[in-house]
Amino acid sequence: MASTHSPRRRAHTRHTAQTQIQVLGCSGGIGGPHLRTTALLVDHDVLIDAGTGVGDLSLGELSLIDHIFLTHCHLDHVVSIPLMVDSVGSMRTRPLTVHALPATIEVLKQHLFNWSIWPDFTQIPSPTNPYLIFEPLEIGDEITLNQRTFTVLPAVHTVPACGYAVRNTTSALVFSGDTGPNPALWPILNQMPDLRYLLIETAFCNREKALATLSQHLCPQLLAQELAQLTQPVRVFISHLKPGEVELTMEEVLHDAQAWAPQMLQNGMIFTL
Ligand SMILES: [Zn+2]
Ligand SMILES: [Zn+2]
Repeated sequence: MASTHSPRRRAHTRHTAQTQIQVLGCSGGIGGPHLRTTALLVDHDVLIDAGTGVGDLSLGELSLIDHIFLTHCHLDHVVSIPLMVDSVGSMRTRPLTVHALPATIEVLKQHLFNWSIWPDFTQIPSPTNPYLIFEPLEIGDEITLNQRTFTVLPAVHTVPACGYAVRNTTSALVFSGDTGPNPALWPILNQMPDLRYLLIETAFCNREKALATLSQHLCPQLLAQELAQLTQPVRVFISHLKPGEVELTMEEVLHDAQAWAPQMLQNGMIFTL
């Protein structure tokens, strides 16, 4: 059940084998206290993407994060990595592991951790004991961390990209990442009997369908065509809405994809698996 309850109950996660996924950011941009770019916190120790929402965590909470799974290299999804690693690196005893497609890692190395935009924290404080390490992954990989499995799903975007399924022994949540029409995704989801939640982007309103197509995002019409390929019952939540178009886009989503009764994803929502 998604709720806006406080995250305090996360402390019990390990004992009950529940997995909690908290939305730290799900907007297509910034602007005011409620708009944060993409970041999901899984229990207390794993992030999926590291957009501006990560900045709302306390220093203590940041220091507990051991893994970040990235969907792609765009700034709205990676912007908090350099700042958080600098803030908590010296508080930690082991490196922060960033899991991403090889092409994503390459971009981060060349254009972000390049000693110009930011220091290369895979070399700091020493190459043998760094604050940050990269771990390449491929579409289809499954990585299990403390009884939670992260499956790498296909995505179609202007740069190499992926989505993720997070599951425990009970159920699964799928996050689409940034994607345009993604025909490879639906047969995979249709084979997931434990699928409970789908968090999927709809970055633009229908008026901007051409821009959505060009930038490989979805608009409500495209979302409806995507969901028509899904045969599993699932609760659908919409992310990455463009600031200034939120109400219009959600109206169009509810009209075009009404059979799914999609809800708007909001900061602070917690999904329990
Ligand atoms: Zn993107
Ligand atoms: Zn994005």
